[in-house]
Amino acid sequence: MSRKSRPERDGFTCMRCRREVSDQSFGTRHRNHCPYCLWSRHLDDEPGDRRSPCRSPMEPIGIEVRADGEWAIIHRCAGCGTLRTNRLAGDDHELALLGLALRPLARPAFPLDLLGPGAGGGGW
Ligand SMILES: [Zn+2]
Ligand SMILES: [Zn+2]
Repeated sequence: MSRKSRPERDGFTCMRCRREVSDQSFGTRHRNHCPYCLWSRHLDDEPGDRRSPCRSPMEPIGIEVRADGEWAIIHRCAGCGTLRTNRLAGDDHELALLGLALRPLARPAFPLDLLGPGAGGGGW
């Protein structure tokens, strides 16, 4: 299987927000997620190979901060459940990224009233 030159490299239309996304971007050679809503698509078995038969949309579920301080987006495939981390692209929308990073804080999975009056000492 060596089908290398397929004309699919001109970007894609986002499955989530329907915007046209260019393949050209700063910071990555394989633009694979939408800079506006950050949704991706399950196209690759290995990054950039475009060989996955799944083709389902991949939901951004979180932000990973790597040891060198670089941010990556964690995507989960809505079709098969595969988890994948992707480097940010230079033109990803900061607000979309912040919303993703803050999502667990907006909906904590544990009760925050453990941190009630008297717990901290300094207040806010
Ligand atoms: Zn989008
Ligand atoms: Zn999938």
